[in-house]
Amino acid sequence: MKNWEKNVRKVVPYVPGEQPKEDHLIKLNTNENPYPPSPKAEQCLRELEISAFRKYPDPECRELIQAISRAYGVPESRIFAGVGSDDVLAMLFLTFFHGTAPILFPDITYSFYDVWAELLRIPYETVPLDEEFAIRPGDYQRENGGIIFPNPNAPTGRLLSLDLIKEILDANSDSIVIVDEAYIDFGGESALPLIDQYENLIVVRTFSKSYSMAGMRIGYAFGQEHLISYLNDVKFSFNSYTMNLPALKIGAAVISDQEYLSMTKNKIIKTREWFSKEMRALGFSFSESASNFLFVTHEKVDAKELFEALKKAHIYVRHFRKPRIDQYLRITIGTDEEMQTLVAFLKEYL
Ligand SMILES: *Cc1c(COP(=O)(O)O)cnc(C)c1O
Repeated sequence: MKNWEKNVRKVVPYVPGEQPKEDHLIKLNTNENPYPPSPKAEQCLRELEISAFRKYPDPECRELIQAISRAYGVPESRIFAGVGSDDVLAMLFLTFFHGTAPILFPDITYSFYDVWAELLRIPYETVPLDEEFAIRPGDYQRENGGIIFPNPNAPTGRLLSLDLIKEILDANSDSIVIVDEAYIDFGGESALPLIDQYENLIVVRTFSKSYSMAGMRIGYAFGQEHLISYLNDVKFSFNSYTMNLPALKIGAAVISDQEYLSMTKNKIIKTREWFSKEMRALGFSFSESASNFLFVTHEKVDAKELFEALKKAHIYVRHFRKPRIDQYLRITIGTDEEMQTLVAFLKEYL
């Protein structure tokens, strides 16, 4: 080993779902929204003044934060924005998880959490979900340096009720508790109203799933003023100009269109309910999903083999080669037509 190599920060990176190049495929592997973003996005893009690109964007993301504030009725001082919720989450880890006690998150969850913990040398412990993949709040009643979990959880799709979230918050008033609400619009009850009551709660959201804007990279977080202020101190010590001008403007336009959000999310929920019935009829088992995907297993079918067979048929889903879930597939809810094609394939396959 060369001497300089000893000084390299060595990490095992997060592996995102495949983004295949071929046309004519059914892509149900990264929880993208099958519908386009609000038409306000296109209108806003057309009106962008290219000469404005000459200047740095607003480091305070004012226009976007004002629009988020209006959409959710939360004061601007309680909102933080970043380059997708991955950027927001990385900033949260950097800012709030700086203690010596281990941070806690479920053993089956968003697989970026352990990557950030490793990158930033944050001690962590995973807390096993129960047999039905539910979070048990009682398991979070021990010393910790912070807590994070998605609600609904990913890749399980299971929702935790607000009462149970309060149980975790009440038992951990000395810790920062982060609720990652990437999928909350697909039928869950948000913890956002709890930020008034809990000075240690942060709620994270994204434009990538319900707002159909994964490609624009916009995420945000809600929390009391003192938390947002700590977060901004770290952000401005790292990179002042995180969000680019088009993302700030288009994000503001899209979040103002709550009517469109409600229409597309209802379509996805309706498709999910139909697809769930079909999948149960085919012998798949899974817990009820409050997200835009199902996490399914089948007694008679090997998940990896089915994953490969689907891929040959140009249908992409997600398989995780991990303990406890290697016999499961995560399937994003696409359009009705896409899900019908998938169901027809599965009928044939079985
Ligand atoms: C998709 C996802 C994110 C990241 O979304 P961004 O595209 O970075 O906004 C964060 N958390 C969970 C649980 C997700 O599924």
